[in-house]
Amino acid sequence: MKKVVKFGGSSLASAEQFRKVGDIVRAEEDRRYVIPSAPGKRFSGDTKVTDMLYDCYKAAEEGEDFKGKFKNIKARYDEIISGLGLSLSLDSEFKVIEENFKKQLGENYAASRGEYLNGIIMADYLGFAFIDAAKVIFFKEDGTWDEEKTKATLGAELAKHDKVVVPGFYGSLPDGTVKTFSRGGSDITGSIVAQAVHADVYENWTDVSGFLIVDPRIIPDPVGIETITYRELRELSYMGATVLHEEAIFPVRKEGIPINIRNTNAPQDSGTWIVESTCQKSKYIITGIAGKKGFCSINIEKDMMNAEIGFGRKVLNVFEDNGISFEHVPSGIDTMTVFVHQDEFMDKEQQVVTGIHRLAKPDTIDIEADLALIAVVGRGMKSTRGTAGRIFSALAHAKVNVKMIDQGSSELNIIIGVKNEDFEAAIKAIYNIFVVARL
Ligand code: ASP
Repeated sequence: MKKVVKFGGSSLASAEQFRKVGDIVRAEEDRRYVIPSAPGKRFSGDTKVTDMLYDCYKAAEEGEDFKGKFKNIKARYDEIISGLGLSLSLDSEFKVIEENFKKQLGENYAASRGEYLNGIIMADYLGFAFIDAAKVIFFKEDGTWDEEKTKATLGAELAKHDKVVVPGFYGSLPDGTVKTFSRGGSDITGSIVAQAVHADVYENWTDVSGFLIVDPRIIPDPVGIETITYRELRELSYMGATVLHEEAIFPVRKEGIPINIRNTNAPQDSGTWIVESTCQKSKYIITGIAGKKGFCSINIEKDMMNAEIGFGRKVLNVFEDNGISFEHVPSGIDTMTVFVHQDEFMDKEQQVVTGIHRLAKPDTIDIEADLALIAVVGRGMKSTRGTAGRIFSALAHAKVNVKMIDQGSSELNIIIGVKNEDFEAAIKAIYNIFVVARL
């Protein structure tokens, strides 16, 4: 078996956390490929090293004296090295980095040093080889990940070593300059490495024991999700559930490699499995509930709309011309509703209304603001009758007025629109009917 293990910033924030990681890696011979993030927060109110690097580089760029900020960053690493009792010194590395800050090698380079230095420490601590991600992970000129070029190099380079550390979050552009993924991008590196070595599992270690059915800020201590499919996860993370970087599923998904989300602080928990497909039924019919506030609905009415060819296209064209993306478009016989993000729409509201009148000639347009969308996601809904009905009755009991309900054709999700102020009550009601009632 081959396992790729990625550790997030909070798992590597201090020498104490490093020790836990060391124990986890050593516990299984198969854990051969380690992807570290930069040191994260040690306590609430602390600053992540990545943020310290951005801040320090900004000072360098503005020609300010950045020595103090730089020293604080070095202190974070020195604390880890001495706490682990290593004889390693990063002094010469820091000299090079300081010079490169003065030469203004770029914000991406600066941010990437967090993972780079942590990778060196991790390799030394575990006795693993170290491979600089800039030499094996590549981006195209336009900044997107270069899958072909990466594949050609990464697999061959990794094959030279039995056990390796590859720092997360960055790679290099065709001209050799360092480029990072978006924030949280070490998750993507882990996935790319798992793809390259044809891993059996991609373990992603963080500070929670996997995904929860619902946001714990709304329902305290909710039950966890044991198994979720890639598609279900896409639906949930789009609606705000964040544990894993959105793009991290694509490289492993292509190879059918499962992801196991684990907790560094509770390694005995089995966490959440993210898989391509499964015959394991979720206990509660639904797999998860997520949602977001801050939507507007634009309700357009026109008699005989259903018979008019091209009506929908004309309406959606207006949104496109104004650079507004739409979220959902439920429709009736003579009505069509477009849900958009309120903050994207506000400034362009009247332009959109005029545009729709001009192009589509509707009878009326009615706008409603301060709406929330809730996604109830579950592969189990397909084979179960009455899910939508149960949601409706639960919401009616909770005195929540449903503004919209839209079931995706895959029967994987049901989207419900409610007023912002009913958001929490609606989620509680849905959780209660599907989960609490079955506990
Ligand atoms: N250290 C980077 C960040 O804070 C990348 C990562 O942790 O995945 O975003």
